[in-house]
Amino acid sequence: MHDTHHENTEELYDQYVLRNYGKAPLTLVRGDGVYVWDDEGTRYLDFGSGIAVSALGHAHPAWVAAVREQIHRLTHVSNLYRTRNQGRLAKTLAGKCGPGRVFFCNSGAEANEALIKLSRLHGNRKAGEEGKCYKVVTAENGFHGRTFGGMSATGQEKIRKGYAPLVPGFSFGKLNDLESFERLVDEETSAVFLESIQGEGGIHSCTPEFLKGIRELCDRKGVLMLLDEVQCGMGRTGRFFAYEKAAIRPDAVGMAKGLGSGFPIGAVWVHEDFADLFTPGSHGTTFGGTPLACAAGLATLYVIERDRLMENVRENTPGWMKELNAMKEAFPDTVLSVRGEGYMVGVQLATDAAPMVAALRRHGMLAVPASGNVIRLLPPLIAGKDDLSRSVEIFRAALADPE
Ligand SMILES: *Cc1c(COP(=O)(O)O)cnc(C)c1O
Repeated sequence: MHDTHHENTEELYDQYVLRNYGKAPLTLVRGDGVYVWDDEGTRYLDFGSGIAVSALGHAHPAWVAAVREQIHRLTHVSNLYRTRNQGRLAKTLAGKCGPGRVFFCNSGAEANEALIKLSRLHGNRKAGEEGKCYKVVTAENGFHGRTFGGMSATGQEKIRKGYAPLVPGFSFGKLNDLESFERLVDEETSAVFLESIQGEGGIHSCTPEFLKGIRELCDRKGVLMLLDEVQCGMGRTGRFFAYEKAAIRPDAVGMAKGLGSGFPIGAVWVHEDFADLFTPGSHGTTFGGTPLACAAGLATLYVIERDRLMENVRENTPGWMKELNAMKEAFPDTVLSVRGEGYMVGVQLATDAAPMVAALRRHGMLAVPASGNVIRLLPPLIAGKDDLSRSVEIFRAALADPE
């Protein structure tokens, strides 16, 4: 198809790929487990997981077998028809979330878009007329995706800049400051919408008390509690959802990233009390919940259970945190803090994250920058103790030799 002998991927990107992303440092060609390789044969410990996506690591045999089997059988038919896998995956997710129903889409932004549309339906039903109850309170420094709805819900100027006018009705409380949310919720509010752990914002967790307080506030005011678990869900914290630590149940949940372990899939679960807000024709997407995407989702969830990957995360996290904190003690001028839950860790630096991400790469590890000076470590859920220790060794080497 292409004359690959004379092909230079970097040149192709320079010439043809839209410049909405910064220039990439590497061309990656292969992955296996916790490792990826570039086009020069250099191996990297992948502790970015494609931004918390590759839950099972790369080329997991059970995942590959499930996707391969399904691709031979049936790939796509649209939602004009039922497919077995969509029914199965909806049941599995409802089993994790509670009594209710599931909508499938293809990304985190689309999942959040459905949540925002749900809040409109709820507000309009509550007010008895359209446009009177439509406000959504979210958190400063959050991130909910790049669609107009997601962007409007995102309390970070750098994401919103250049796109005015945005969707009206969004306001921003301070994370873990319940009073700031109490002040913003009024008669016109239809929902409170939060990440249980802010990812792009630099790894900031909602405390259990705050989540409980938001649940109570939403109940008292008759507004929906919507949680964006796109990054922190699907087992990453050692629980299927990060909100489970607070022993609450939201009214609806957005999922994506890790759900297909690399196959694009998003989902929204809606509690049964609100599931009837979506009526036939009120929302949809062509590609949502294809038998292939759902095969990837089912395989991912199956392996997480079968191989006890959430237990793996819970068992390994204390040791890893200890090693990371020892690293912080050893480099007190550069490492300001280490925070996070499970396999969702932020290392806050005194300096910009970008040069340190480059140094980590030179020392053999991929990580993801966040919020200016935070390095995110998001290992695949299959990562074992040795992989975690290796990540700290590499981090120490990069701190000692950052050039
Ligand atoms: C990544 C992310 C999104 C957006 O997901 P896309 O698949 O990139 O559209 C939304 N919310 C959170 C919390 C995310 O981390």
